[in-house]
Parts: sequence; C-alpha cells; structure tokens
Amino acid sequence: MKVDFCIIGGGIAGLSIASELARHADVLVLEREADPAFHTTGRSAALYSELTAQSTALALSRLSRPFLLKPPAGFCDHPLHNIIGCIFTASDDEAGHIQTLAAKLECAEVLDIDQMLARVPVLRTGEQHITSGLLEKEAFRIDVGALVQAYRRQIRRNGATLRCGAEVMGLMREKEAWWVALADGDSVSARRIVNAAGAWGDVIATRANVAALGLSPLRRTMIVFDGPPALDCSQWPAVGSITGAYYFLPEAGRLMGSSADEVASPPCDAQPEEYDIALAAHNIESATTLEIRQIRHKWAGLRTFAPDRQVVAGYAGDSPGFFWFVGQGGFGIQTAPAAARAAALLAMEEPLPPAYEHAGVTAATLSPQRFTTL
Ligand SMILES: Cc1cc2nc3c(=O)[nH]c(=O)nc-3n(C[C@H](O)[C@H](O)[C@H](O)COP(=O)(O)OP(=O)(O)OC[C@H]3O[C@@H](n4cnc5c(N)ncnc54)[C@H](O)[C@@H]3O)c2cc1C
Repeated sequence: MKVDFCIIGGGIAGLSIASELARHADVLVLEREADPAFHTTGRSAALYSELTAQSTALALSRLSRPFLLKPPAGFCDHPLHNIIGCIFTASDDEAGHIQTLAAKLECAEVLDIDQMLARVPVLRTGEQHITSGLLEKEAFRIDVGALVQAYRRQIRRNGATLRCGAEVMGLMREKEAWWVALADGDSVSARRIVNAAGAWGDVIATRANVAALGLSPLRRTMIVFDGPPALDCSQWPAVGSITGAYYFLPEAGRLMGSSADEVASPPCDAQPEEYDIALAAHNIESATTLEIRQIRHKWAGLRTFAPDRQVVAGYAGDSPGFFWFVGQGGFGIQTAPAAARAAALLAMEEPLPPAYEHAGVTAATLSPQRFTTL
C-alpha cells in the first residue's frame, strides 16, 4: 500500500490531523490497539479551561473554542460542549494568584466565600483553608466520545483509512519514501510520516532513526466517588485548587476528581496505583467536607509533555518527511481543532492563517527544531 501521509497513533492527535489532511491527500492512520482513543484520549477529564493553559496551549485553546462550541455543519449531530464553569480556590497564602489569574481572563469573576459556598456547599472555608476563589464562567465539559466519533466519520468521508490493531515496529527512509513495517508482517510505503503516538512519540522516533525530543509521559490518576447524600452535585461547577493540589467535577450523577498528580512513567498502558488513589481522595477531603467512603471507579492516563511543556508540530530537522505532532500534555482535547489545523498546514508546507500568527502560534513556536537550536 502507498500513501501520501502515514499517521502513527489513533488518539485525538492522530485522528484530528488525519481528518484535516485527508481533504488534500491519501492518508492512512495506524493504531496499535483494537480501538482508537484507548490510551490518553479516552482517559481525560474532558474539561475546557483557559485559566489552566499558558502560552501556545492557551492560544490554541482560544482558537479551538469556536469549533468546540459550534462545530462546522455536518461535523457532528449533537453539541460537543456543556458549560459548567470552573472555580479555582485559594487559601490566604495563595490569594495573590487569584488576582494574577483574574487579569488573564475577561470573563473571570472573583468570588468571596459566600458566593463559592452558594455554588459548592462542601468547600472547607476559613483560616488555613479556602478564603477566596475565581470563577471561570465559560469553562465547559467536552464530549470526547462524540468528538472522536466525529473525527472518525470525517476521516472516512474524506477517503482516508483508520487501521486498528496495526502496531508500527520499524520505519526506514528509502529514496523519496518511508517504508513502515507492522507487527503483523505487513508494510506500508508513505511519502511522509506523522508521529502522533502520544507517550510513545520518542519510541517511534528512535525506531525511525530520528533524534528523540525528550518527551516526558506523566501519569495522572482519576477517581470517581459519590457526592454528599443530601445534596445534588450534578449542577456544580468544576472546582480546583489554584496551585493544583486537587480538582473535582460532576460526572454522571457522581463526582470525579484527582490530586492533579504528575508521576513520571515510561510509555505504557497506565494503571492507577494505590498511593495515587489515596492521595486524590485525601486532597479532595482536605479541601472539602466530603467523605469519600468508596472509590466507585478509577483510572490513570499519561499526559505527555515536550521539554517546554508546549505542543510540537513540525518536520524533524534531521530526517526528511518525518513530522512530529506530540506533546499535547494536559490540553490535547481542548486544543485539538486548532492544533490539528495548524499541524496539517505545516505538514503540507503551507502557511498558517493570519489569526494563528496574531495569536502567537507560528511555525517557529510549534517546530521541533526549537529544542535543537537553543
Ligand atoms: C487524567 C487526564 C486528564 C486530562 N484532562 C484533560 C482535559 O480536561 N482537557 C484536555 O484538553 N486534555 C486533558 N488531558 C490530556 C489529553 O487527554 C491529551 O493531551 C490527549 O488525549 C493526547 O492525545 P494523543 O493522541 O497525543 O495521545 P493518545 O490518546 O495516547 O494516542 C496515541 C496513540 O498512539 C498509539 N501508538 C503508540 N505507539 C504506536 C505504534 N508503535 N503503532 C501504532 N500506534 C501506536 C497508541 O496506542 C495511542 O492510541 C488529560 C489527560 C489525562 C491523562
């Protein structure tokens, strides 16, 4: 089989860039697992928040926001978003962060204790605890399942192929093309490779004899537990510490939360560990009057960061036709539409739209070569 672009990875990164590229070129997506979005994409908190993002991630979030709020006609049948808002809490010592963050976002509203308790009655307030908060009114949940399905449909419609159960074992540059060897003995010839393998980004590079970027997969553990018996928590906003010690949000009649942990991990099928589960419960209980008696559900996923914690999209300097699209970190869902558009244009060696350049998203800020020219 011969294609223009062979995309390695069927998470949000691979699917979103495939849907963009497939309008213009022959595209094949190779995913090792039996289903796409099995790893990090299927394990996220699915929240859109601008207050937690910085630099390129913030710019790409803002550029993605209109798409997520109102997807293009025919992209999906249902809304992809549900506005819930997000409260960032601070103790007296952390109050300075509230003012700094409030200045970052026009629609952010500083809340006093009564205003916070009116929205989330279980917050532990007062001296040594929560004394102030900031509400990001427009934060929203993203329907990741629907977004993934919509990208899959778009890929099919545009004539591209998603092949699951297809693990890439080796890559070799031969004349003007790449030869891609699969675990089942099959092979593919591609003019260009897109490395969208998430936590395995450096593994794929090494298999292709391309210099690794130094990606860091960091494990985060999520727990699901019951809300307080006498209260309906389904309409609560997301709540998180401004310094990142915990967060929780409503999830299908219960609450879902985390200690916002970042534990270094090799690329793998991440599993929740007892200590991280206990830490998530402890940090949430310390910040609230909630009593977490039973963990109803738990999982872990790898958030993978480049050395500067910003996404990477661009051709490798040391190997023609090898395109990096990795390092989405904790923002790969909320940045997906704009990041995929930018990455696809760069992969086709076309300029980015002026709106991207104005927002500070340029070929140079996205390029993997920013790590080699320092
Ligand atoms: C707990 C948690 C909470 C998060 N919360 C949010 C949030 O609220 N908002 C947000 O925007 N983001 C969030 N994220 C981050 C977001 O989920 C990621 O940025 C995004 O999913 C990364 O997508 P990806 O496609 O790069 O990686 P993945 O989804 O991991 O996809 C990579 C794929 O490559 C495949 N692959 C690897 N090696 C090979 C090979 N050799 N051959 C073939 N295929 C291969 C893998 O099987 C995998 O399916 C969260 C992440 C976690 C873990």
